[in-house]
Amino acid sequence: MKKLQLSTKILIGLGAGILVGLMMQGAPAVADTWIKPFGTLFLNLIKMIIVPLVLASLVVGTCGLGDVKKLGRIGGKTIAYYLLTTAFAVTLGLIIATVSNVGGGLSIPIDTVKAEVTQAPKFIDTLLGIVPANPIKALADGNMLQIIVFALVLGGGIVAIGDKGKPLFSFFDSLAEVTYKITNAIMSFAPIGVFALITPVVAANGPKVLLPLLKVVIAVYIGCLLHMLIVYSSTLKILANFSPVKFFKGIFPAQAIAFTTASSTATLPVNMKCIEENMGVSKPISSFVLPLGATVNMDGTALYQGICALFVAQVYGIDLTFAQNITIVLTATLASIGTAGVPGAGLIMLTMVLQSVGLPLEGVALIAGIDRILDMARTVVNITGDASCAVIVAATENELDRSCNVKSALSS
Ligand code: ASP
Repeated sequence: MKKLQLSTKILIGLGAGILVGLMMQGAPAVADTWIKPFGTLFLNLIKMIIVPLVLASLVVGTCGLGDVKKLGRIGGKTIAYYLLTTAFAVTLGLIIATVSNVGGGLSIPIDTVKAEVTQAPKFIDTLLGIVPANPIKALADGNMLQIIVFALVLGGGIVAIGDKGKPLFSFFDSLAEVTYKITNAIMSFAPIGVFALITPVVAANGPKVLLPLLKVVIAVYIGCLLHMLIVYSSTLKILANFSPVKFFKGIFPAQAIAFTTASSTATLPVNMKCIEENMGVSKPISSFVLPLGATVNMDGTALYQGICALFVAQVYGIDLTFAQNITIVLTATLASIGTAGVPGAGLIMLTMVLQSVGLPLEGVALIAGIDRILDMARTVVNITGDASCAVIVAATENELDRSCNVKSALSS
């Protein structure tokens, strides 16, 4: 019998999970008790591997880029792509929300909304906080932004001392290979993990919870689809002459993991596998561009923040000026950089966006009920944006193996 491809199995897991979730709507607690633990196990396995993987692969990636000039050039391209696509995403979000009048028809009196608002950190604190005073603590806490900075500095140091740095390089190189191998093993559980993660979410958030805010859900999902189709397809074609069809086929396993885990960080190991093995991006590029992207590049989150800001404004009958729209674009771009790649982080950063234009923070409570559903979609866009950047940077640096084909299953 022909062996089913891993992507197909993941898709089956996803479909079956949604079906079973719908059937279990009357008993979400049962889904939580009996099915969710398998999802949590899968998630824990991925989380276990992330810190060593990011540290090792980014150290190796930095060393692999060789000289500071190349590092600067690739870093420059990466950041430029990340910023421009993110700003576009918020703008698209604002346009969709305006055109569809996303908050229209919904009027919720202010005092029925619980103001359960978590304060977003100040941007300057986010900026200062990226340099870890204690790198071991950063590793222990899994603080991705700090780990990235530490890995870049460590990689730079290894290159700078030449021959004497070789043993340390070999150590991280070997650690990176080991973490890739473990990732492959974990991925073979993905179909079950995906099934067990999606079932309780559907059981708890079935149509009943969704209906009142259905317009927001549809707006965010359409926005996510449009952004991927318009922005990534065209940049891949124009900047890298890379087939969008091949790209979306190759990235699918990572998208399925992103959709079910709602975490860019958890998806990182799979995303790296996909762009290396299915699209031919070189290891140094993928291990530099992707860990950075999983932490700072969140197009889906920015788009969602644009839509939600306008939704809140419309629900409370507040008209925003053009200047206020521009402020939203700027703040949401910055807020998405400060958003951690974990479930629900974007909702907390939404307060920063609302605050920037004086919108009622209670609006966050409106969104909170459906946030998980929105989170799944925006995380897919977040990681797809990272992957598209890696392919483009690799193409412009001549580090893309164009003969590489989408594999039936990721290697082990
Ligand atoms: N869950 C998203 C991610 O990991 C972040 C967010 O909440 O927007 O990419």
